[in-house]
Amino acid sequence: MTSVAVVGTGTVGSMALWRLAERGIHAVGFDAYAPGHDRGAAGGESRIFRTAYKEGPRYVPLLREARGLWAELERTSGRRLLAPVGGVTAGPREHPKMRAVLDAARAHDLPVEVLKGEQARRRVPEHPLRDGEIMVVDHDAGFLRPEPAVGAAATAAERAGARVARYTPVRELREDADGVTVLAEDGEHRFTHAVLAPGPWAAASGLLPEPLARALTTRAITSTWFPRRDESLFDPGRCPVAIRVGEPAYSCFPAVDGAGVKINLHVPWEEIASPAALARSVPVAYVRQVARAVAGTLPGLGPDPVRVATYCDAFTPDGHGLLGRHGRTVLAAAFSGHGFKLAPVLGDIVADLVENGATARDIGHLAPNRTLRRSP
Ligand SMILES: Cc1cc2nc3c(=O)[nH]c(=O)nc-3n(C[C@H](O)[C@H](O)[C@H](O)COP(=O)(O)OP(=O)(O)OC[C@H]3O[C@@H](n4cnc5c(N)ncnc54)[C@H](O)[C@@H]3O)c2cc1C
Repeated sequence: MTSVAVVGTGTVGSMALWRLAERGIHAVGFDAYAPGHDRGAAGGESRIFRTAYKEGPRYVPLLREARGLWAELERTSGRRLLAPVGGVTAGPREHPKMRAVLDAARAHDLPVEVLKGEQARRRVPEHPLRDGEIMVVDHDAGFLRPEPAVGAAATAAERAGARVARYTPVRELREDADGVTVLAEDGEHRFTHAVLAPGPWAAASGLLPEPLARALTTRAITSTWFPRRDESLFDPGRCPVAIRVGEPAYSCFPAVDGAGVKINLHVPWEEIASPAALARSVPVAYVRQVARAVAGTLPGLGPDPVRVATYCDAFTPDGHGLLGRHGRTVLAAAFSGHGFKLAPVLGDIVADLVENGATARDIGHLAPNRTLRRSP
């Protein structure tokens, strides 16, 4: 009988556990912490969901499936996880990322609109455009609630028969012809298969095969929350999520907690040795940089952040994650700062790879055996 150890019940691992359990496959999730914690890649209150994908049209079918599975998880858990407020990408008309958004929309006939001038100002007053800029509206976009979503997936998995071993770090995986031995904090366990979803711990964990692990980097991403000047703006029930491309570049979320508007500045994110090395304090120079971006483009926000927090993710050199079989183990890691929205479909693909050794979904761009070289 198939039995699976899922190492890491964060974003992707919790979804994999849920999808495996739904198929009646015996699965145990191990986590160094517990589902829904904020030490890794899933902290910070909100994540963008979007379908007109500047990272490439190949993701669009996966995103469509992900949206259906988010709805299924909402039904199963009785929790609201995806706020379908829409999303906009704003910036110079000729910017390559703007073109990439439109290309993805065209390739898959997505319901996007292009706004400019007065029309954009009326529809999205939170994000005024500058001369020569346009706004692409993605009606299928919105924001996800990461911590509750991971908790909901783990609970759904447990209800479907999976077990979660909380506060149980895995030290080593030993694979042989018949199965995988998991050496965990609480002892040795035997399974027919393993799923490796250690998130930002991937590079330093010693669990991933070399030279793959060496190609990965762990990066810190800082979020800042700014106060609203006008309570009618950035309403979480109505205001779209936004990505600004060009200079400055950032993502911006409505006031999910009713007070702070979250800004993630898109700058080269600092490389760190491991999540254990994540500094929880942020240089003042960085805070000034975000404040300048806000002052220059978001007149509806106050000048200084009221909250600052840093999280991390694992990155590949080409910005696409790793998803595929490696012997009896499925690797699902390094989703490079954009994996949250995809998590339920990634989890379902993990279940395909465990159950059948293959998947009908197009995941060639995520193949762990592709050439991955770190830039010097
Ligand atoms: C600040 C920030 C903003 C982002 N914004 C977006 C966005 O708007 N939209 C989007 O789609 N994506 C976004 N992303 C990316 C997305 O959040 C990540 O790609 C995704 O959460 C990665 O999930 P994961 O499962 O790989 O990692 P995690 O969710 O961190 O899960 C890894 C889990 O493995 C466990 N673990 C690690 N090692 C071990 C071990 N040895 N034994 C047991 N357990 C272990 C950890 O405790 C953790 O629970 C953002 C990321 C960050 C950091």
